[in-house]
Order: sequence, then structure tokens, then C-alpha cells
Amino acid sequence: MTARLRLHSSHLGLGLTGQRVRDRLIEDLRACGICDGRVLDAIRTVPRHQFVDEALASRAYENNALPIGHGQTISQPYVVARMTEAVLRVQPAKVLEIGTGSGYQAAVLAALGLEVFTVERIGDLLRTARKRFRSLGLHVRSRHDDGRIGWPEHAPFDAILVTAAAPALVSALLEQLAPGGVLVAPVGPPSGQSLLCLHKDAQGEVHQDDLGPVSFVPLLSGLQD
Ligand code: SAH
Repeated sequence: MTARLRLHSSHLGLGLTGQRVRDRLIEDLRACGICDGRVLDAIRTVPRHQFVDEALASRAYENNALPIGHGQTISQPYVVARMTEAVLRVQPAKVLEIGTGSGYQAAVLAALGLEVFTVERIGDLLRTARKRFRSLGLHVRSRHDDGRIGWPEHAPFDAILVTAAAPALVSALLEQLAPGGVLVAPVGPPSGQSLLCLHKDAQGEVHQDDLGPVSFVPLLSGLQD
């Protein structure tokens, strides 16, 4: 699948945000077991340095989470790749993300040609993410809300990604998952979160896989400006 992204020459530059450091990140991800070529292509194409503060741009292609303000983080590229691989397995068309943050995970999904809906509780982060989507020509639908209620008006979704950790699975989200769909979410206390992958079969029965330990910021209630 071709990444649907408007490329400006500045995204292809050399130096600490250029093609060579991006290729090195792709090699790191392969070494960590990411093998879906569509995911690797999307991560190579989406300019991660534009999803962090300019002062951190030189570190954007390291395989690490980075601060984005308000005590939140842009997820580690490996985790973005792992979650994206998990959702692509069901050939989704319509995807919901809870926790827009920087907008990077949503941009990777949109670059894969998926119809993306994303919800963020911090208005300031959402406004910045929307500017990034616009400047990259990416079509992402976003909403300022508490994502624990999902986005019922647009349900069901073929895939749901939760990018903040809750002590237990949020049942409203599982209800908004289409039969045949997949929900990927970090679950558990800060000391011991697991990335769970839940598959809802055609009969509506749910099967669960544990993709391993992760460390996400908490899923919080209520809205912030
Ligand atoms: N997917 C993001 C990761 C951001 S970190 C990225 O690619 O950058 C998780 C985000 O989830 C934070 O921005 C946080 O504000 C948001 N969040 C936490 N609880 C939430 C909730 N109940 N509803 C919506 N967003 C929430």
C-alpha cells in the first residue's frame, strides 16, 4: 500500500532528521522483530520530528518515547510499530485511537490509507496535533473528549488502539468493536502493564493475546484545556 502523505522536500533532508537516521530506525525495528513492510514503510515516511518540539527534533528517530508536554509522551516507535502490526492483521478500514497525544500514531495509521478517528482529553495537545495533520495533508478525524466513552456515533470500528494505560479494559470500547475486529490496549498498574490484543470473532466472542510488557502514561478521566 502506498503511504498517502504529501511530501515536502524538507522531510527528506539529511542530518539528524533525514533519510539516513530514518533508515537506521527501520533497521532497529526489524531487529526488534517488526516485519510488516507496510508498517516499516509508513514509519519511514511519516516525519516523526514534526511531532515533537523543535528542541527534541534531533532525537526523533531514536527508538524512544519523548516528552510532548502536559506530562505526556509520544510513544516509542517500536510500540507504535507493534500496535500497528497487530491492527493490520485484520485488514481494517476504520480505526479509532484513544489518546491522540502528538498525533504520530494517528498519522502512521492515516499514511497506511486507513480511515482514522482519534480522541484526546487535553485540548492543547489536540490543537497542535490537528495542525500537524493539516500541514502533512493527512485526513484524520479528531475529537476533544474523554476517550473512555469511545466515539459511539462512528462505531463500530474494525480496530481500536488505546495509547494510555487503564487498570482494566474499558468495556465501552470493546462494545464499539466490529465483529472480526481487534482492540489493542495497555492494561495494568504503572508497575506492570501488558499490551493486550483482543480479537472479537464473527460470533462476537473475544479472544485475548498478551503482546508483552509496556509502559504507557495513564488513561485519565475528564477533560483539560
Ligand atoms: N498516541 C500518542 C501517544 C500519546 S500519550 C502519540 O502517538 O503521540 C497518551 C495520550 O492519551 C496523552 O496525550 C493523554 O492526554 C491521552 N489520554 C489519557 N487519558 C485519556 C482519555 N481518557 N481520553 C482521551 N485521551 C486520553
